[in-house]
Amino acid sequence: MDLHFTSADPTPDERAAIDGILGAPNDEWSGGARARERRHLLLPTLHAINQRIGWISGGALNYACRRLAVPPADAYGVATFYAMFSTKPRPPTVLHVCDDIACASAGAQELCRALESAHGPAGTPSPDGRTTWLRSPCLGSCDRAPAALFVEAGTQPRERQLAPVTVAAAVAAVSGDDIGNTTPEPPHVAGSPLRLLARVGRVDPESLDDYLSNGGYRALQRAFEMGPGKVIAEVIASKLLGRGGAAFPTGRKMQSVATASSRPHYIVCNADESEPGTFKDRILMEHDPFAVIEAMTIAAFAAGCERGFLYVRGEYPLAAKRLAHAIDAARHRGFIGSDIIGRGYSFDVEIRRGAGAYICGEETALFNSIEGKRGEPRNKPPFPADVGLFGKPTLVNNVETLVNLPHVVLDGGAAYAQTGTADSTGTRLFCLSGAVRRPGLYEVAHGTTLAALLDMAGGLTSPESVQAILLGGAAGSFVTTAALSMPLSFESARAANATLGSGVVMAFDRSVDFMSVLARIARFFREESCGQCVPCRVGTVRQEEALQRIASLHTGADASSDLVLLDDIARVMRDASICGLGQTAANAIASARVLAGVFPTGQAT
Ligand code: SF4
Repeated sequence: MDLHFTSADPTPDERAAIDGILGAPNDEWSGGARARERRHLLLPTLHAINQRIGWISGGALNYACRRLAVPPADAYGVATFYAMFSTKPRPPTVLHVCDDIACASAGAQELCRALESAHGPAGTPSPDGRTTWLRSPCLGSCDRAPAALFVEAGTQPRERQLAPVTVAAAVAAVSGDDIGNTTPEPPHVAGSPLRLLARVGRVDPESLDDYLSNGGYRALQRAFEMGPGKVIAEVIASKLLGRGGAAFPTGRKMQSVATASSRPHYIVCNADESEPGTFKDRILMEHDPFAVIEAMTIAAFAAGCERGFLYVRGEYPLAAKRLAHAIDAARHRGFIGSDIIGRGYSFDVEIRRGAGAYICGEETALFNSIEGKRGEPRNKPPFPADVGLFGKPTLVNNVETLVNLPHVVLDGGAAYAQTGTADSTGTRLFCLSGAVRRPGLYEVAHGTTLAALLDMAGGLTSPESVQAILLGGAAGSFVTTAALSMPLSFESARAANATLGSGVVMAFDRSVDFMSVLARIARFFREESCGQCVPCRVGTVRQEEALQRIASLHTGADASSDLVLLDDIARVMRDASICGLGQTAANAIASARVLAGVFPTGQAT
């Protein structure tokens, strides 16, 4: 622990922030088993301190620990796990500037250089100590790159994504100028057929009445008429596969939880969308939040879940705000809570916000995070359907998977399966960014070719100079224009040794220094590894080092020993890492080996 943790008492502001989450101190809750039952409030408590003060002091942490009966060393381990928290003094206003691959291709490095020149290196406090800026991994606004997240702590904290952000606006924000309060423009969305995105940009996301008059809550009514067993049967018939990357059959997962004997059952909506290049769930949550809540309620009803958690990425303040509003409005009108619309079924949802940890998108890491622990993945088995959140059967799906359910319920599983291919049913959301004419979110039937998808976005900005297209995100792979005829389906991607992953399609033309793209991906995995297992903890470091050495070579130099090393590291990480992060951390870099002119000549084969 550092010296900032010697202070024993919280300031009045820190105490107020903590009591705002935990309630006024009460003997009933101080110490003992009942206090420990509230450990799941540790993450919201840390958020409250950070939002009020801008950082988490030893006095504040000690007080939170006393209230929750958590050992301070344990809570310190949690507080230091998340990138959005600071356990050292930090100015209350921070501009987090994305320097990840999409933003870097759109001028983020120039933006960072301008901030360095105006305000000093990242992390330097302004002369009055009120502001600073930091570099950030992908903020999920690649369709409007470059992006930044403005965070201002205080009694009225403010958080807002600025995308696209200009150099002048970024410099002004760190200078302490007001960033204003304008609502962001609706995103660019398109599709054929347009189902999951049908309401995006067309309804008021803060109006339940608007949602109802655009087909909202018809599916929940229908689900109640069908009963849980029939809902699950239709989801199985639909052959809906999970859209989070693992492509597990959704109906089977639902059935496993429904038949689990242990109680209670939980549902968790994984909205911790952090894969670089991905922004689809953000757009759904920001622009059709009631659909997420309705879909969660249908899934919960089918699997017999009493309680749900919606774990929203910490960098998505607008999504969290609109979902919170939707939950309140739905509860007020009886669409969640006790005896939902008089059908005798009770279910409620709480929001939990992540705090800047990519690994929390892994389902068991996410459970640990909700439980107030470090977001480290658990060994599997046991699987979440048997032993999930709080050790109970848990249904966990991401946002895109869930919002398919109302369509399955209303159309029937067989009709749903008519769209797409035999093994990849339904539509799919793709996040297009980089060197495409109209970046945005696109919905197409599975089986649509990559060329047709790009055509929908106006095509590549300069087709003759395309270097590579990243499919599936940083954990995915690079393909060349030779893959344009590839149908976008799970089976075709697998056959091409690629993945659709989280739906990323990011194009790079020859103006981009490709080695710096690979180096940023390597840095991302090194920074995001939770460090729990050696192959990933060490492998991601060695991978980045090898890439740095290769990047420093002159053309014609021999990189063969480092290329062999990269292959060895990739094999060990893939075979011996505990979770998907380590298993996929070398994928994109390995796939770039086949791209012409990226690695120095003299390389190993
Ligand atoms: Fe953590 Fe990496 Fe191991 Fe996953 S593979 S548990 S992220 S160290």
